[in-house]
Amino acid sequence: MNVVESIEKAKGETLFSFEILPPLKGSSIKKLYAGIDPLMEFKPSFINVTYHREEYVYKKQSNGLLSRTATRKRPGTVGICAAIKNKYKIEAVPHLTCGGFSKEETEDALIDLNFLGINNVLALRGDPIKSEPNFVPDDGGHAYAKELVDQIVAMNSGNYMSDELVNAEPTDFCIGVAGYPEKHYESMSLKTDLKHLKAKVDAGAEYIVTQMFFDNKKYFDFVEQCRAMGINVPIIPGLKPITTMRHISFIPKTFSIDLPEDLADGLEKCKTNEDITRLGTEWCIEQSKELKAAGVPSLHYYTMGKSKVVKEIVSAVY
Ligand code: FAD
Repeated sequence: MNVVESIEKAKGETLFSFEILPPLKGSSIKKLYAGIDPLMEFKPSFINVTYHREEYVYKKQSNGLLSRTATRKRPGTVGICAAIKNKYKIEAVPHLTCGGFSKEETEDALIDLNFLGINNVLALRGDPIKSEPNFVPDDGGHAYAKELVDQIVAMNSGNYMSDELVNAEPTDFCIGVAGYPEKHYESMSLKTDLKHLKAKVDAGAEYIVTQMFFDNKKYFDFVEQCRAMGINVPIIPGLKPITTMRHISFIPKTFSIDLPEDLADGLEKCKTNEDITRLGTEWCIEQSKELKAAGVPSLHYYTMGKSKVVKEIVSAVY
C-alpha cells in the first residue's frame, strides 16, 4: 500500500510514520534496526529514508597542496528501503534529490526502486553541497523538485528518457514533496513558495510532508493557505523533538524556522542536555496531541537517531 492509500484507508484516523537517516558509511545495518525496532509496536504506516549526496573532503598532501575528494558519508538509501520492506513488511519511502543526479541517473535510480517493489518516493531538490553557497544542478540534472516530479510522472505513464523505447513498462510511484510552513529559506515570500508548491502538486505530487515546526499555528495557517490556493492533497506534519543544546541554535539557523517564545524561554533555563530532552519531549507530546485531535493524516517524526525519545512521545499520544 502506498502512502496515499494508507491515508485513505485510515479514514481520518491519524497514522504514525517516521524518518530515519542511513547510518554513517562503515556502520552495520543492525545499528539502524536497533533504532527502528522500538518503534515497531506502534505500527508505523511508512518509514522515510533520507538521501545524502556527496560532500567534498579536502586533504593536505605532502607537497602542501590540498586535494579534493568527493565522498558520500551516508550512502545506502535504496538498500535500506529494500531491507525495511523485507524485514518489517512495511512501506519504505526513499528520498530522491535532484542534486547529485543527471536525468539519466534519476531514471536508473527509479528503475532500481521499481524492480525492488518500492513504489513510494519523496521528490526533493536537495540542499547545496556544503562547500557551495547555492544549489547548482548537476550537468543534465534537474534544477527544481517540480522537474523531478515531472520525470517520475512521465515514467508512471511509460515515458522514459529514450524515445526509442517502445511499450516501456509504466512505473507506479506515489510521489510526495516537501512543504515549508515557515517558507523555504530561499523563497522571497511564503506566497511565492506556495506558488511553487502548487506547481509540484499540479505536476502530480500526491501529498506533502512539511519541514519541522514548533508552533502548531504555523502548520494550521499553512494548511489553510494551501487549501485557499487549491492545494488539496494531504499535508503531513513533520515533527522533531529538541534534545540537545546544539539544536537550539542549529535548528533555527539550518532550517530557517522560529521557536515559539514559551519554548525558547524554557530552553534558555535548561542547564543540561537532559533538561532539554525533557522539555523538548513534553513540547513535542503537546504538539502531537493537538495535531492528532485536529485529524492530521499522519504524525511524521524526524527521529535522527533518537528513537527512545520518539517512543516516549508516541506512547503518550497513541
Ligand atoms: P523545490 O521545491 O525545488 O524548492 C526549492 C526553492 O526553489 C524554494 O525556495 C522554491 O520556492 C523555489 N522554486 C521552486 N520552483 C521554482 C521555480 N520554477 N523558479 C524559481 N524558484 C523556484 N534534503 C536532502 O538533501 N536529502 C533529504 O533526504 C531531504 N529530505 C527532506 C525531507 C523533508 C520533509 C523536507 C522538508 C526537506 C528535506 N530535504 C532533504 C531538504 C530539501 O532538499 C531542501 O530544503 C531544499 O533546499 C529544497 O528542496 P525542495 O524539494 O523543497 O525544493
